[in-house]
Parts: sequence; structure tokens; C-alpha cells
Amino acid sequence: MRSETESRSQSGTFEDKELICKECDKRFLFSAKEQEFFKHKGFQHEPARCPDCRKQKRQQLEKEMTQIKCAKCGKETKALIDIKKDVPVYCRDCFEKMK
Ligand SMILES: [Zn+2]
Ligand SMILES: [Zn+2]
Repeated sequence: MRSETESRSQSGTFEDKELICKECDKRFLFSAKEQEFFKHKGFQHEPARCPDCRKQKRQQLEKEMTQIKCAKCGKETKALIDIKKDVPVYCRDCFEKMK
């Protein structure tokens, strides 16, 4: 005789919800799992973009990675870092060797 309370309990659970991407106006699912993940991460806002657009944005970001020049061997490489003027940057190889 506990089925009624079971089905009614909503605490801590999320329901799949449909959102509209602000980039392409497409509807996408903000799944219960994602909502939980977002809450866990402490995000206040729902995702504004659909997974496709999010992926595209990430790829674009990768393209915009900073071109750096290794302070040791002079080789050019890419890194997604904030270059601070006084800090020398190294390519992966040199970085590995310094360890
Ligand atoms: Zn989209
Ligand atoms: Zn190097």
C-alpha cells in the first residue's frame, strides 16, 4: 500500500524538458539527466543552445586557439591559454622534457 506515495514523490527528480536554441531556433531536449548535471555543477541557467550548436561553438573555439611559439625551441604550436606576457610558453615536447 505504498504505490501512491511512490508515484507522487518528485523530490530530487527532474523531467525532460524542451528548450529552444537561441542560435538556430531548433527545439532540443534538456533531459532530466542534463538538468541534474547542471544543478550539480551549480549552473543557474538552462542551456541556451542545442547540442549541435554547442558542439559547433566548441569546434570554433578550438580553431581560435592561440598560436604560441615555444620559448625553448621556437616551434609554433597551438594552445588554448591566456598568454601572460612574462610567462614563457613551451611546446609540448619541451614541456615534457622539463618534467
Ligand atoms: Zn542550435
Ligand atoms: Zn619547444
